[in-house]
Amino acid sequence: MRNGFHIFDAHTHIGAAWHNGRTMSADDLLRNMDEHGIDRSLVIPFPVVEEYRRQHDLIGRAVKQHPDRLTGAACLDPRLPGRQFQDEIRRCREVYGFRAIKLQPQYHGLDPMSDSSHFFFETAVENRLPVIWHTGAGVPFALPSLCMAPARQFPELTLVVAHCGGGVFVQEAVLAALFCPNISLELSSLMPHQVLEVLAKVPPDRLMIGSDLPENTEVEIGKILGLPVPDADKRFILSGTAYRVFGQEP
Ligand SMILES: [Zn+2]
Repeated sequence: MRNGFHIFDAHTHIGAAWHNGRTMSADDLLRNMDEHGIDRSLVIPFPVVEEYRRQHDLIGRAVKQHPDRLTGAACLDPRLPGRQFQDEIRRCREVYGFRAIKLQPQYHGLDPMSDSSHFFFETAVENRLPVIWHTGAGVPFALPSLCMAPARQFPELTLVVAHCGGGVFVQEAVLAALFCPNISLELSSLMPHQVLEVLAKVPPDRLMIGSDLPENTEVEIGKILGLPVPDADKRFILSGTAYRVFGQEP
């Protein structure tokens, strides 16, 4: 809790990142959560890893040890031979109860507009898992407007636009949410004035916070706590929307 609000951080990572050498353990994350009053975190593998099953196992074990604090999400390069991607997503859901799949087009090169990408969204629908979609750095595939194609094609799918377009494409992210009721926005990396611009168009029960990395935690929470908006709006953004989207209870 922070200032009387439950806090659900909808974007964190543990494990080892192969592309930049970063490491983060479950204990590191839990310490950071305690320090900043975070009740629950959605935990995602880093986008480039040495062995995706090992990273999922690491998160799965942490989720099983701390079911009251952590929610698991899968992330792997989806372009694997045969049905390895589908099998791994099902394994993560069945064995560890993961609640989301991350799409990382900055590193995984999946063109969401192409019919050859349908399998990704079909897998999410089959497993009833929301897709968290990295946006911002990594265009063109990381453009928020591209989310609208699968959002329209798979109306039962829930999409979360991570980083809300990464600042530069914030208006595109807002448009995507306005045109598609199954799109929610995760606000990490936006400036507070941009969050207000988003809130002027998109209802707070479609918005959520994320820290991405522990150095950002205080700023990402503080920028919402400091907004001149009703507490009811902050309640949705700080935890309510994420509890609903990822099917968890406060
Ligand atoms: Zn991230």
